[in-house]
Amino acid sequence: MLIDSHCHLDDYEDLRAILAHAREAGVGKLLAIGIGEGPDTMHRALELAHAHPEIWATAGIHPQEAHRATAENLAKLEALAADPRCLAVGEIGLDYYHLDNPDIATQQAAFVAQMKIAAAAGKPITIHCRTSELAIPAAKAKYEPADAWEDLLALIAEHWTPTGLPGIMHCFSGNEEQAARSLAAGFYLSFAGNVTYPKSTIIQAVAASVPADRILVETDAPFLAPIPLRGQTNEPAFVAHTARYVAELRGITMDQLAELTTANFGALFPTSLSVSPDF
Ligand SMILES: [Zn+2]
Repeated sequence: MLIDSHCHLDDYEDLRAILAHAREAGVGKLLAIGIGEGPDTMHRALELAHAHPEIWATAGIHPQEAHRATAENLAKLEALAADPRCLAVGEIGLDYYHLDNPDIATQQAAFVAQMKIAAAAGKPITIHCRTSELAIPAAKAKYEPADAWEDLLALIAEHWTPTGLPGIMHCFSGNEEQAARSLAAGFYLSFAGNVTYPKSTIIQAVAASVPADRILVETDAPFLAPIPLRGQTNEPAFVAHTARYVAELRGITMDQLAELTTANFGALFPTSLSVSPDF
């Protein structure tokens, strides 16, 4: 069995068909990310998790919506995080790529506030981190010389590491040093379709060498479809292509890769191994 450790399921017209494809591809569990289109709809993933036994959920305020991390919305998140089918808080973090995003101080405040909510709920966090490295000049001017990875790892060291709780670096797209520091902080690295792209040589090197007990795979659907389906609307079934690619990088079989990523997901989220009271 494979697990899609990160997908966005809110907007599929025919979710039943998407879930059927996943099942046919051997994808037995999905972690639906509950960021919605902002805090007003961050409960949607949990609604799906309560309607479908294979779906588990997160809830969180994406860095792009950090200006909406109001007391009211944080209270809503606190309530969602307490739900037994909510496995993690996220995706949260820092995004210094898009010019339209809230300023650095606003993003950092929202990130810290949500780490506190996750810690209080005893749930891991799932992280979005995007640097301004490939951003347009205006965005670079807005964010640089700040570096999203440096800021992220510093905030994690201060506010998350003391909790002793783990987390996931979703769609890991950093370098070897950032990978090593994430692993040292107790994080799992989750690889998405972009690991299959020819230019992703650094991500591929990390995926080949990350310890077997810290690796996950995901789609980040509907974005970032893996090769050979690049350009299509992504869906959880396609995680099989990413898994096959990563297995080849590591010189193991697809079944072995499936086995270890599924075991890792279970270690990270033990409640996902139990039958939820709902089903
Ligand atoms: Zn995502």
